[in-house]
Amino acid sequence: MKNIILIAAPAAGKGTQAKMLKEKYNYAHISAGDLLRDAAKVNDETGNYINKQLKDGKLVSEEIMFDILKKRITQADCKNGYILDGFPRTLEQAEYYEELIKTLNYDLGLVIFIDVLKSELERRIVGRRICEECGFIYNINFEDQKPSNDNLCDKCGGKLYQRSDDNKDSFETRYQTYLNMTKPLIDYYENIGVLHKINGGINKETTFNSITTIINK
Ligand code: AMP
Repeated sequence: MKNIILIAAPAAGKGTQAKMLKEKYNYAHISAGDLLRDAAKVNDETGNYINKQLKDGKLVSEEIMFDILKKRITQADCKNGYILDGFPRTLEQAEYYEELIKTLNYDLGLVIFIDVLKSELERRIVGRRICEECGFIYNINFEDQKPSNDNLCDKCGGKLYQRSDDNKDSFETRYQTYLNMTKPLIDYYENIGVLHKINGGINKETTFNSITTIINK
């Protein structure tokens, strides 16, 4: 079993890669953003708070994030390995996570940093469209990732939507948060010898090949 942590800026392709890895290796896919988007649907104080943080492109408090993460990684499907997509995003989260896996007797596993230029990220963010039925991700700014029918999924016919934080303003906030809070994790994991850096700027297949080469070593 190899647990995998994916670290990258917003829209670098963590979610897409995690889905592809899940299919190939049957690991559980734990997306911090998806867990929070689900929690934001609950119409109570916590749900409304999460909803606002997501819209503004700001991180959700550690207390809430830890609680949600702990519940998820202790579920049965995580026992055979999992991919963490979007967690940890701060040094405090990384430290919390290490304490948590010690108590659960889980491996830290591999940490993979997917490197993509900011200009490319912005182009991906504003064009991203997601199927509300099957979760498949399209991009209207790239010929090879466009749906053939503007607002409908080619795979299942579901309606496509745009995330409320996939716009230029939220992207700027999210990118600055990434530089200030998440990038320090790269040095942190490099220092403990678990970091693998790959180029995520070509296409999803090339990125996937780089990741599977690391996993299969
Ligand atoms: P993502 O789907 O990974 O792009 O995350 C979407 C949003 O969820 C982020 O912009 C944050 O508002 C929130 N979020 C995701 N992961 C975390 C985390 N580890 N800690 C706090 N907030 C998070």
